[in-house]
Amino acid sequence: MNTKLIPIIGMEIHIEPNTKSKMFCACPQDHFGKAPNTQVCPICLGLPGALPFANYEGIAKTVKLGLALGSKISEFSKFYRKNYFYPDLPKGFQTSQLDSPFCVGGSLNGFAINHIHLEEDAGKLVHETIDGKKCSLVDFNRSGCALIELVTEPVFHDIPSVISFVKELQLVARYIDISGADMEKGSMRLEANISLSEEEKVKSGELPNYKVELKNINSFKFLEKAVSAEIKRQTEAIERGEVLVQETRGYDEVKQSTFSQRSKADAHDYRYFPEADLPPIELTKSQIANIKSQIPELPESKRKRFEEEYKLSKDFADILVSEKARSDYFEEAVKLGQGSSPSAKTVADLMINKKLDEQFPEPAGLVKKIVELTKVEYASTEEVENAVKSVLIENEKAVADYKGGNGNVIGFLIGMTQKKLQGKGSSQIVREKLLEGIQK
Ligand SMILES: [Zn+2]
Repeated sequence: MNTKLIPIIGMEIHIEPNTKSKMFCACPQDHFGKAPNTQVCPICLGLPGALPFANYEGIAKTVKLGLALGSKISEFSKFYRKNYFYPDLPKGFQTSQLDSPFCVGGSLNGFAINHIHLEEDAGKLVHETIDGKKCSLVDFNRSGCALIELVTEPVFHDIPSVISFVKELQLVARYIDISGADMEKGSMRLEANISLSEEEKVKSGELPNYKVELKNINSFKFLEKAVSAEIKRQTEAIERGEVLVQETRGYDEVKQSTFSQRSKADAHDYRYFPEADLPPIELTKSQIANIKSQIPELPESKRKRFEEEYKLSKDFADILVSEKARSDYFEEAVKLGQGSSPSAKTVADLMINKKLDEQFPEPAGLVKKIVELTKVEYASTEEVENAVKSVLIENEKAVADYKGGNGNVIGFLIGMTQKKLQGKGSSQIVREKLLEGIQK
């Protein structure tokens, strides 16, 4: 029997959009590095009687991501209360979505997306030692911030595919300007759901009856290490004959292994119910079309175009496209340089290998530099004539040989003339002037 075990991985990716205000109140969305509890109001503090209102910008950015990834956009959508208790959640519930997320389906890098929904973020617990006592403080600046969650289908079977998917998603979010998707600032956070199954079952589409959720993944390195440690743990457990259970685990970098945090509650444990304080959201076709019109060319198509239109290598196209501003700079420089000599390849090469775009913030500066670098200064006709004159005087024997029928001598005379001109003579003019001089 073939018992080869295959990992089955699904991703849940949170992206904080760069909206001006939080999702259901007017407090600023950008909380990074702000003094604790300075960006709060009765709504995001969950005080009794406060009424939320939905921020259209948050909805539009969610829909924009869905449109970029080919999702079906729900024209009718609802918010739900997801009930659970935690000190960073003052209302006792998180406003989220359930059966009618804004975006359904779609794909990226060929991997299927289940849906993309919109919810609010929770506050942040800060653990400190004050007067020798360990305590936890709550910062509510992040409470109520808009948070987009993308959930993939369990379609990944290896770690490199997961990483390239997440990197591409990060790039798309930046291209369509919905978020900086910066993992260090927490504006992109990852969770991986992992289980193992026999190859035959995976092929037939049968999923295992458990999955382990790895939370709080805040870098690509961490993602790679944590997922690989969890796959190793599950493989060994199955080989020992253990039955794996549904749970949430964390990753210990020092021990390089995962540890159990809690047994995972099923969705119904949250007792979702419709958020009565927020009316259902209806999006018109023209609103959706308007959002769609703001989507620029996406990285995948830009890479292909750079390879075809500018004949760049795949590596060069990848590097330039990995930053939208850099790819725009490249195209601007190529456009400016047309007619004045630099080829697209030269521009790309000087940007990538010499980092000249860092030296010249404006593409025009780079183009000027390239023209300077590639320009050959030719000696004037007069300078050539003078050089030819002395070469003919100094090399009487060679001249006589040429006149006697040894045509090859001309190469020697050209070389001598160029030597006098320090190589700056135009080879065509030097030859002409030499022949003229010899005939005299
Ligand atoms: Zn607020």
